[in-house]
Amino acid sequence: MAAVEAGASGTVSTDTSFFGHPRGLAILFATEMWERFSYYGMRGLLILYLTQHFLFSDERSAVMYGAYTALVYVMTIIGGSLADKYLGQRKAVTFGAILLVMGHGLMAFEGAGSKEWLTYEGQDYQITLDGRGGDALQILVSDSGRSLISFNDGATQMIIAEPAVVGLPATIPTSSYTTRVEKEQLFVNVLYLALALIIAGVGFLKANISTIVGALYGLNDTRRDSGFTIFYMGINLGSLLSTIIVGTIGIKYGWNWGFGLAGIGMLAGLMTFLIFQPWLEGRADPPSAEKLKQKVLGPINVEWACYLTGVGIIVFAMMTVMNAHLVPEWFVGILGIAIFLYLVGYALTKLAGIERDRMLAAIYFILAQIPFWALFEQAGSSLTLLTARLVDRTIFGISVPTPVFQSLNAGFIVIFAPLFAWMWIVLSKRKIEPSAPVKFAFGVFLAGLGFLSLVGGIAASGAGLIAVSFIFLIYWIHTMGELMLSPVGLSAVTKLAPARAVGMSMGAWFLYSGLSNYLAGVIARGTGAETIGGQLTDVVAAKATYVSVYTNVAYVAMGIGVFMLIISPIIKKWMHANE
Ligand code: GLN
Repeated sequence: MAAVEAGASGTVSTDTSFFGHPRGLAILFATEMWERFSYYGMRGLLILYLTQHFLFSDERSAVMYGAYTALVYVMTIIGGSLADKYLGQRKAVTFGAILLVMGHGLMAFEGAGSKEWLTYEGQDYQITLDGRGGDALQILVSDSGRSLISFNDGATQMIIAEPAVVGLPATIPTSSYTTRVEKEQLFVNVLYLALALIIAGVGFLKANISTIVGALYGLNDTRRDSGFTIFYMGINLGSLLSTIIVGTIGIKYGWNWGFGLAGIGMLAGLMTFLIFQPWLEGRADPPSAEKLKQKVLGPINVEWACYLTGVGIIVFAMMTVMNAHLVPEWFVGILGIAIFLYLVGYALTKLAGIERDRMLAAIYFILAQIPFWALFEQAGSSLTLLTARLVDRTIFGISVPTPVFQSLNAGFIVIFAPLFAWMWIVLSKRKIEPSAPVKFAFGVFLAGLGFLSLVGGIAASGAGLIAVSFIFLIYWIHTMGELMLSPVGLSAVTKLAPARAVGMSMGAWFLYSGLSNYLAGVIARGTGAETIGGQLTDVVAAKATYVSVYTNVAYVAMGIGVFMLIISPIIKKWMHANE
């Protein structure tokens, strides 16, 4: 009984040395904080790095970025399953962390960057960027000197700031020159390999480290949700620090300094995990030490076969990221349906009784996150464009750069997560803690409510700019929803999936979280407005599009939330709490 009680493995912990939680939580908190530090720090720079350093087109960069951010989560299902069956979570996390140190480290080798050449009247001129990020300036270099260049609205003419210096006319029609990009193939390949190493690394680490958090608590330990909320705070502390520090250093001092710092952060994570893993007290060890040593082929045993699978993931990921623009869209839908059928098939054929019911509840949670993330993840896309183009971003006389608003989410989590962790414990002591399906329903409802409040802000703005307080409001409402859903989901899945399939189920959780990002992209596309040179041509029409898309998704999400609330007693029954 004790083994079942403990979740993934081992015995029930009564240790309360880390804010009332087992001290194992402290090392998982710190390791995951550093892992997310490196992940979000690197991700913050990535799209700019692709477009400005390697000079990939916007479309190609967006597709590559999308494939990368999806694959990091898709691969968790393989890392999670291998940990369940053979490796155990501790070894899987260690292997993942090593791959991540290598991947982030490799990102720091940037080469000289791609070069763009402009040919005008038989003469070649180099175009370079002065600086990085939003403030980078385009410079044209000729034998006689350098000049700033810009484009008129509609991009029909290139305007040369100092024509005399470079020996060219003041304006050149864009139809009269051609451009070509020369890439350093070696460093482009280094980039692909680095991305693939990170994909495989997150694949082995991310789901498994959450599984270990679950293994710290017994099935009926009321501290579980609160423990996950604290763990979630570590995730967002890493994200908050890195979006500020890695982002600033990468833009100010150079890409390699930013990526290098992300790599150093991950090294700190690996060291923390290696040094303090005895604190896990064997809770994440391989299910069978003998099985790991069994030979599979020649000198290769099961453990090494798992690591070689990791190498296979790296090769596959590298090919996919390289050719992301060739992957058809329907493939994502098919993948989502196939994994769903597999999970339900697993529950129906391999499990019975209470175990089966609980697995079905876990599958419910895994799918119920989709409407939440599909709305929430507008933050990086449509909401960011709205903030840039339609919001009065001046606060205390300072025009706040658009990307800074994205850190509001991590900031709010760091502030409010401890409050939620405390609240769950207080409510459960009084026996009035809402059940996980009720919390989920609120989470999805809040995702919709956030957008509805923003729609109110857009309407109030008339033909002018939207008040910035509405951006604070939507991030705040969404973050409250996230705290009701994301840590609660992690906690519920670790509790509900049978110990032998908990890693796979956590992998599925992240896989659908990744696929929801894809759906978010589809919604964001619906808000697309007419622009010339990145500027809106018709503000009123753009606002009307936002209002209609955001109102629709808001009502759909709120409707789903209400439906989820209505069916919550059924899910609660499947969970078989206290049995
Ligand atoms: N922000 C959380 C994390 O990085 C959740 C990610 C997700 O599930 N998409 O872990």
